[in-house]
Amino acid sequence: MRLFAAALSTESNTFSPIPTDLESFTGNRYFPPGKHPEHPTNTSSAVLVVARTHARRSNAVLMEGTVTGAAPAGTTSRAAYEQLRDEILGQLKAALPVDVVALGLHGAMVAHGYDDCEGDLLTRARALAGPKAAIGATLDPHCHMTPAMQAAADLLICYKEFPHTDFVERAEELLTLLTATARGDIRPVMSTWDCRMIDSFMTSRQPIRGFVDRMTALEGKDGVLSVSIVHGFSAADVPHLGAKMLVVTDCQREKGEGLAKRLGQELYSLRGQGAPRHLSPDEGLDRAMALPEGPVVLADRWDNPGGGVAGDSTVILHRMLERGIANAVVGALWDPIAVRFCHAAGEGAKLRLRFGGKAAPTSGKPVDAEVEVTRVVKDATQNFASSIVSLGDAAAIRLSGIDVVLETKRAQTFDPSLFRNLGIEPKERKLVVVKSSNHFHAGFLPIAKEIHYIDSGGPYPSDPRCVPYRRIPRPIWPIDENPHDAA
Ligand SMILES: [Zn+2]
Repeated sequence: MRLFAAALSTESNTFSPIPTDLESFTGNRYFPPGKHPEHPTNTSSAVLVVARTHARRSNAVLMEGTVTGAAPAGTTSRAAYEQLRDEILGQLKAALPVDVVALGLHGAMVAHGYDDCEGDLLTRARALAGPKAAIGATLDPHCHMTPAMQAAADLLICYKEFPHTDFVERAEELLTLLTATARGDIRPVMSTWDCRMIDSFMTSRQPIRGFVDRMTALEGKDGVLSVSIVHGFSAADVPHLGAKMLVVTDCQREKGEGLAKRLGQELYSLRGQGAPRHLSPDEGLDRAMALPEGPVVLADRWDNPGGGVAGDSTVILHRMLERGIANAVVGALWDPIAVRFCHAAGEGAKLRLRFGGKAAPTSGKPVDAEVEVTRVVKDATQNFASSIVSLGDAAAIRLSGIDVVLETKRAQTFDPSLFRNLGIEPKERKLVVVKSSNHFHAGFLPIAKEIHYIDSGGPYPSDPRCVPYRRIPRPIWPIDENPHDAA
């Protein structure tokens, strides 16, 4: 058995002011064949890490391709996408003949001239590897499931969890099912049902927790190989946006289509319930201050770099400073210039610093304050499940009893290790403000007295009814009521 594995991932927020270019990949996560470490460096890189163990276990020959990913941001340049795509396809061509092509993709990568980068990449991979090769990919559920992707691949599997803590398990499933396909033991058939909705599906709470558990229980019997919720990614103006159900059966198309429709209708009936009510910054701070002890974790949900925005909003921090709230930590704010200044000043230095609030009007105003640099770290990291995620150079500063972590790479706040690696113990604080949509939840739940989601006004386009979409499919809820009747 000859396997080929590679990864190319980013999530394109077509409304983001931050363009994605080649440097966004090569300067972020870029590993040529043989250079990727033995642990995952993000979710999609798990395909390569798992393919290595899989090959060792089954005496298969693994040909590695490049593993690269950019932090979610705006549309990728055509040149960057084509160069990275052609690099991976060139490696695949050199590896031929192959029985299995396993790719770690995000599924929401948009480049100038390409609405559906993954569909394009998979189509070209199929043309090279031929009809007999088993081709598949893991996808982030915040993807756009397109006809081109389904036509080119034998198998697509989304992470089930949001937070996406199950990326290694999904990569293992992908490798197991692809090799079974290559041996002729199974014949995967993918069926999808379009829920015609834009919504959020947090598996850290009900009712989505129960839905995913019921959905998972269907797998591995009666010919059902895999079931995924395609959450969709609402910060992109593309023709295939929206939530879908994906069912993979062992050559039972009719059954797969019936099951995808039944589950999709059930998911549609849960619309609007997949995320809690979001509080204003002051409501969140009131709740935190009302509690005798902490920490209360407030997620600045729409300033999440994981959704392609800057992660430099100061809206909540300004309210904390104005209200005199101390014994708090905030992080991580993206501000490479401020990090550079802190590294230049050194640990223990006190200086006037301007930080945050630069990328967009919705980021708020920069903070100008006298700060103490409490820690500077080169190549700082944080954990996310079994992966180690880079923050780039980072700095911790203190002002008015508030510790703030500043980072050079736009990484969302996954885990308390982000603070601990900069000398701050979040468990000992009254208030912890994180920049994340929901990936923080698994890591912070063990230390949080309460968790609240805050809407500080952007910059991610959070209410689909107010987003100036021009190209998405209609009708779609919540922009259109009763989209299934209307369709
Ligand atoms: Zn995601």
